[in-house]
Amino acid sequence: MEISNNYLPKAKPQIPHFLILPWLAPGHLIPATDIARLLAEHNASVTILTTPVNAARIKPTIDRFNDASAGDISLVSLYFPATEFGLPEGCENVDMVPSMPLVYNFYNATKLFGQQVARYIHEQAPHVSCIIGGMGYVWAADVARELGVPCFIFHGFGSFALYCCEILHKTKAHEIPDSAAELFNLPGLPFEFKIARKELPMHFQQSKKDKEIAEEMRNYEVTVDGVLVNSFEQLEQGYAGLLQKNSGKKVFTIGPVSLCNTTRLDMEERGNKSTVDSDRCIEWLNSQKSNSVIYVCFGSTGSFAPKQFKELGLGLLASPWPSVWVIKDVEKLPGETLIWLRENFEEKNSSKSLLIKGWAPQIAILSHPSVGGFVTHCGWNSTLESVAAGVPIVAWPLYGEQFLNVKLIVDVLKIGVSVGAGEAMAWRGEKEDIVRVKREDVVRAIEKLMNGEEERRRVAELKEKAKLALEKGGSSFFNLENLIQFVAQTI
Ligand code: UDP
Repeated sequence: MEISNNYLPKAKPQIPHFLILPWLAPGHLIPATDIARLLAEHNASVTILTTPVNAARIKPTIDRFNDASAGDISLVSLYFPATEFGLPEGCENVDMVPSMPLVYNFYNATKLFGQQVARYIHEQAPHVSCIIGGMGYVWAADVARELGVPCFIFHGFGSFALYCCEILHKTKAHEIPDSAAELFNLPGLPFEFKIARKELPMHFQQSKKDKEIAEEMRNYEVTVDGVLVNSFEQLEQGYAGLLQKNSGKKVFTIGPVSLCNTTRLDMEERGNKSTVDSDRCIEWLNSQKSNSVIYVCFGSTGSFAPKQFKELGLGLLASPWPSVWVIKDVEKLPGETLIWLRENFEEKNSSKSLLIKGWAPQIAILSHPSVGGFVTHCGWNSTLESVAAGVPIVAWPLYGEQFLNVKLIVDVLKIGVSVGAGEAMAWRGEKEDIVRVKREDVVRAIEKLMNGEEERRRVAELKEKAKLALEKGGSSFFNLENLIQFVAQTI
């Protein structure tokens, strides 16, 4: 009997299934969601596995994506053991951790969470063909190894910062100075870069607890198969290659991932529900002149003690440019500061300033034509989102790898000016109520940026390159395809 071709078993297409485990912080969850969408757009299967609170934050985006594109990103949430580690109930994201000491409890809770993830994968998702592990999930590479699949790490840092970290791990140059405030030269770069240990990520701090965690993270980093970077080749010229060469890991630059958000809802409801009425915000921006507005936001958790907070506000009032100022942790500000804020910003100057207390629709604001500058802490997502929108930067780093990013922004790419933040401050605000950056410095930096041509011209060029990178034929498009093919070959 002849068998028609229709009845022959077809060769099974090897569609890889990526399991994304975003680290539980907004600056990781948000780009990880974008990465899931980009992989799905490139026809890979994707599951995001997180906790209930984090799943609720990204569910509207995933639902919209699945509805609009017949895509099929699965969103799975597993119980997070917060109270077991002395954290408030439902404390499932770094931005909900009430104080710095509890961050260590949070980190330990993520390890127990990891055991559940491992169980879940073995019992319900053995078909997974690659794990993309978040920065702090030090157990992710072991889970992947047991399953026999590759593991990629997503740190959330850019290539330049990752390369600097790699050099520091190798040379230990940061351990030479006696004090954390002493400047030392970061080796391995084609220019001199003086930086202090306190301006480096926690991986390089010397307290016993930090060192223990840093060691676990480093062990994780050296066991993974590769690194995913939210960046594009034309931006951090050569640093992804240097990272690959020095770390011996495959490095895929696949960004700027925020550019996958093209509809108004996706741009306005990214990572969290906005606390400002988006229509009102856009209307206010519409009422301003083109390239005139300064957008001021210090990421998902950046906030100041009252004196520095007021000094920044006075700088914004003294500057002739209108501003949108995003304020986090409003409830921590004293009553008198809140009254001052209401009187000077909401009552007297509402046509010149818009306050957003809570969560701002950042990429919708940055892409509005009236926005002409961004005062930012230089978190990597904010940096890249500013580049993708063609908005030059006033760099005001606070902590983490932000001082490394400033070097790239101000001295290498020359797309921003420094406010002169001086020293790093403690995560989640200062212990001391001091002023590090004076109002005159705020005014000076804004003036320099808004009146300057060079930074604006350069960032406009990069905006075009960013767009091209994700289009067919672009470097990030190509790297996404390569990543999928690499994993497909391991199935
Ligand atoms: N973000 C936002 N609204 C806010 C604050 C932050 O949409 O009010 C987003 C921002 O667009 C970025 C992320 O949160 O995608 C913050 O990441 P970044 O790396 O800039 O800083 P982090 O919060 O990690 O310090």
